[in-house]
Amino acid sequence: MTNCIFCKIITGDIPSAKVYEDDQIFVFKDINPKAAVHLLVIPKIHLESLESLAEDNQALVGHMMLKLPELAKSQGLNNGFRTIINTGPDGGQEVGHLHIHILGGKGLAKFN
Ligand code: AMP
Ligand code: ZN
Repeated sequence: MTNCIFCKIITGDIPSAKVYEDDQIFVFKDINPKAAVHLLVIPKIHLESLESLAEDNQALVGHMMLKLPELAKSQGLNNGFRTIINTGPDGGQEVGHLHIHILGGKGLAKFN
């Protein structure tokens, strides 16, 4: 996707604070952190949102989910963390490339 900022982050055309990368996912620090730790986990292929997923994305989505605890721990979140996936305009999604927020540490607001 030529006009997607997260695709440009994956290719390095837009700089980011990279935390982790493998063949399927790219992980970087949110530019406007809502807590001491705020990461974004994105697939390397352009998928717009949860609503774009198909059966053949199952392994990729599973891989993203299974990596979350390890990524949180790599940032010092040894006592838990929060994940958020915003979907579509009414779900508060501002960037149209599927991403999982990982939040934790100082400044994490009570959610419920
Ligand atoms: P969402 O509202 O779920 O679409 O979240 C998009 C997130 O992307 C927001 O938390 C932004 O702060 C973050 N963001 C936007 N542009 C960048 C960027 N260039 N580098 C890092 N994070 C970004
Ligand atoms: Zn993209």
